[in-house]
Amino acid sequence: MADVRERLLAWYDEHARVLPWRVPPNNRATPDPYRVWLSEVMLQQTTVAAVKDYFARFTERWPTVAELAAAEEADVLSAWAGLGYYARARNLIACARVVADRGGLFPDSEEDLRELPGVGAYTSAAIAAIAFDRRAVVVDANVERVISRLFAITEPLPTSRPAIREAADRVTPERRAGDFAQAMMDLGATICTSREPRCLLCPLSDVCEARAMGIAGDLPRKIAKKARPARTGTAFWIERDSHVLLVQRPGKGMLGGMRALPDDGWNARADGNGKAEFAVRQGDPLGAVTHGFTHFTLTLSVLRAELAGSEPEGEWWPISQIGEAGLPTLFARAAQTALA
Ligand code: SF4
Repeated sequence: MADVRERLLAWYDEHARVLPWRVPPNNRATPDPYRVWLSEVMLQQTTVAAVKDYFARFTERWPTVAELAAAEEADVLSAWAGLGYYARARNLIACARVVADRGGLFPDSEEDLRELPGVGAYTSAAIAAIAFDRRAVVVDANVERVISRLFAITEPLPTSRPAIREAADRVTPERRAGDFAQAMMDLGATICTSREPRCLLCPLSDVCEARAMGIAGDLPRKIAKKARPARTGTAFWIERDSHVLLVQRPGKGMLGGMRALPDDGWNARADGNGKAEFAVRQGDPLGAVTHGFTHFTLTLSVLRAELAGSEPEGEWWPISQIGEAGLPTLFARAAQTALA
């Protein structure tokens, strides 16, 4: 185990990725817990490449947790648009407000971090290790892959998770736990990649059990996922004087609180069809978009429509500025389809 730690940390000292939220190894600066927390929340379910621009925009607009806590929720949701999993954005604001009430100080233990809104087991461990250099066992998808291979854990995910965690715990050092966690992540992202691991470049190749057994590329095994159920829906493109009608979705539920096109799921209905907040007269089909959510795949038809009754709650947004409306990806793509 000591060998693994030393080799990995030595490799990290030379090859650490340069990331905007990271303090490089051998730099004596103290990481800013706000930046570590923000990056870790953004990186859940999302790639580093996708997060970098969002992180830059957020930290420029809200450089401190107190400034983020004071922001309007609608502004934060709008700035988050496109990153997906919007419950994260609502938890982000809730968490910023809790921390601001504590004088802007994040708790420094894994246990106390876990009490914050939207901070689960992984994120609390990552912040404790990276921001506060506490010993914490940090296991994300990259680390799962490295550990599965290093210790040749052949049981499939997710049932192998306890064994992976136990092995990760054994190998995590008391000192430089933050660097070690980031080294594991970097190794998984750049060398021990899911397809065709680059074992010849790996600092752990001599001690890697999967490599010795010739099964590195087969791990981690995974239990086949069931196909996601398919759902359908309709979004309405309602124009007036070069503006389009946008509505705000309810605070709870899918894409809660986000600006959106009206759709037949909750606030609009085509003539004679069920209960809804307002009625529309539907016109030409403009196309369709398919979008994968965690538990289902949605095919959303986009129809031109006119209001068929009283003026609904919503805002008439200039069509020429639709890209600045902060629409979540599903509705941004629906708008592109309508304008194509
Ligand atoms: S030797 Fe290969 S499989 Fe093993 S940890 Fe390194 S890159 Fe991954």
